[in-house]
Amino acid sequence: MVYVACEGESTEPDYLRYLNEEFGDGDGGMRRPFRVQPVYRKNGMTPSEVVAAVQEAASEDEAWALFDRDQWDDIPQAVAAAAASGVELAFSHPSFDLWLLLHFQPFGGAQSGSSKLMIEKLRQAKGATAFRTYDKRADKGLGGARRDALRGREGDAVAHARRLVAACAHGGCTPGRAWTEPVGRDIEQWSPQAWASRSGHTPECPILHRDPSTDVWRLLVTLGIQGAAN
Ligand SMILES: [Zn+2]
Repeated sequence: MVYVACEGESTEPDYLRYLNEEFGDGDGGMRRPFRVQPVYRKNGMTPSEVVAAVQEAASEDEAWALFDRDQWDDIPQAVAAAAASGVELAFSHPSFDLWLLLHFQPFGGAQSGSSKLMIEKLRQAKGATAFRTYDKRADKGLGGARRDALRGREGDAVAHARRLVAACAHGGCTPGRAWTEPVGRDIEQWSPQAWASRSGHTPECPILHRDPSTDVWRLLVTLGIQGAAN
C-alpha cells in the first residue's frame, strides 16, 4: 500500500485510480501488485497541506506528495516537511499537465510557472483526441477515453521525463542519479536539498528552477510499472 496525496481534486486522483486499475494487480511475473491510496480534498490543498495530509493518512507506510509549481509559494516548506518525515516528492514544474503531455510528445523550454502552453499542446497532441476539451469548463477528469489515450504510453512518458532531468539548465543533473527504491519512513534526517535531489537533479539545483520538469516518472518506476532504462 502506497499513499499518494495530491494537490488537485480531479486529475491526479483520477490518474492514481487509473494506475491501480491498469497495473495494480501486477503481471504475475516481474511486476509486483500494489495499491495506491489517493489522498485529496475537495477544493484541493497547498503543497504543505499535501505533505501534512499524507503524513497523517500513511502513518508509517510509504508516502508520496504530488504537487505543482504553478499556484503556490509554500513549496520550500513542503519540501522541508517531506524531507523530515521521509515523504517522497513527485513535484511537477509547472504542473501535472506536463506529465500527461509527455505521454504524447517530448517537451522542453522554460514555462515560468504557467501551464497554459502545456495544456494547449496536450489538447493538440497526436493521439490525444480525448484531451481536445481538457480543462475547458473545468473538465480536468481522466475518464474512459482519456485513459485509453494514455494507455501503453507510460514508457514514452518516463523516457521523456528522464530526458528533462538531463536537459536541466542547472547542469550536472542526470536521471541516472535518481532514487527509485522506496525508503522507509524511519529514515535518517536528510536535508531538504538532498531529499529533493532524489529526482536526479543535483542538491545544488533549486527545485523552483527545475523548469520544466516532473518527478512523476519516479513514482511509476518505484511501483514497478516501468523500468527506468528506456
Ligand atoms: Zn536540475
